[in-house]
Amino acid sequence: MSIKAVIFDLDGTLLDTLGDLTSAVNTALRRHDFPLLSEADVCARVGNGVRKLLERSVPAGTARPVVDACLAEFQAQYEEHLVERTHPYPGIPPVIDAMRSRGVRMAVLSNKYHAATSRLIAHYFPGAMAVTLGERAGVPRKPDPTSTLEILTMLDVKPSEVLYVGDSDVDMHTAKAAGVTAVGALWGFRDRDSLLAAGADHIVERPEDLVQLLDRLQLDAAMHAFEMNGFTWTFCATAEQAADYVASQCRGKTVGMGGSMTLDRLGIYDLLKDSADVHWHWKGDALISSGDVFLTSANAVSAMGETVNIDGLGNRITASVYGFDTCYVVCGINKLTPDLTSAMRRAREIAAPLNAKRLAKRTPCAVDGKCHDCHSPERICRAMTVVMAPPSGMKHYEIVLVGEDLGY
Ligand code: SF4
Repeated sequence: MSIKAVIFDLDGTLLDTLGDLTSAVNTALRRHDFPLLSEADVCARVGNGVRKLLERSVPAGTARPVVDACLAEFQAQYEEHLVERTHPYPGIPPVIDAMRSRGVRMAVLSNKYHAATSRLIAHYFPGAMAVTLGERAGVPRKPDPTSTLEILTMLDVKPSEVLYVGDSDVDMHTAKAAGVTAVGALWGFRDRDSLLAAGADHIVERPEDLVQLLDRLQLDAAMHAFEMNGFTWTFCATAEQAADYVASQCRGKTVGMGGSMTLDRLGIYDLLKDSADVHWHWKGDALISSGDVFLTSANAVSAMGETVNIDGLGNRITASVYGFDTCYVVCGINKLTPDLTSAMRRAREIAAPLNAKRLAKRTPCAVDGKCHDCHSPERICRAMTVVMAPPSGMKHYEIVLVGEDLGY
């Protein structure tokens, strides 16, 4: 089963909010002459919403009206100083970019009140989250699974297709209650033992480990799906290994190459030019439409076992399904998406704008990086192929997936 969505906790997972939380708590405590707290003290008290945070911060036995006053003072101060000392944990922004590039949808679920949660996400991760939910009146807080299940419905995904990433026992309990995979993050407020005790299925020490975990799960699904669809499947850990492998399959043969930043990065043309009859229009050679081997990349490969390519001229997508005996599709792991829908979305919304920019096309996407479904004379999206199984006129069709980010 591929992973289609990741739900993140906020405080202690995406954002280090302790500085602003501590300032706001201490503003309330100071007004009542209560002892002030350190960031470590506040860290030990968070995780169950702001009322619980204040209840745990005032001296034992404080009357409820005083707690209510502290809560109001905390909220007023926090509203005003929400984004002063708060910052994403180091390594989180690249993780968000990697998830987006891989076509995985993202959501945030926090026990922080909804208005503050929404403001923080809009400020630090604009446009990245498909759904953001904080604590809302009448909806039970985490670890109750109600809001998690609501997000699953909004994203139209099954529990088995979701990772829930959080730094606390509350998050792990929430994930287990909703039936989704619980991933414990060690850079936040709690330690490994408490996360494992609360039911974490996976532990990640650094934010970048999350991407590796996702890739590992996606690879397992993709390998099985491509084999079921009749493709040959090869995984190479590095670009160098992939270049050597692909070159070894092409020596002594007539080879055509499709336009591809990935093939360029691999240096395939130079590896083959003295040992194969290789033709690449990027090097000034004439296009060929038949031969022994066609080499190409794809704009996306889906973990359900399909490849997706967009083309302007049409030579690359034609040769990838007709005219050659064999086709090798070489792709970086950044192009492995959960399913066909996300693969097609990736081709159109990520790969095509980047290629339009590289080619200095006069299209709106080359300016702002977003697809506008344009009718520009220089539009590069003119045909799209989805290869669902090896075309019957070809003897061999192989997907070579590389464990590095390559191309667009
Ligand atoms: S349709 Fe136009 S705007 Fe959209 S990605 Fe293609 S070239 Fe860019």
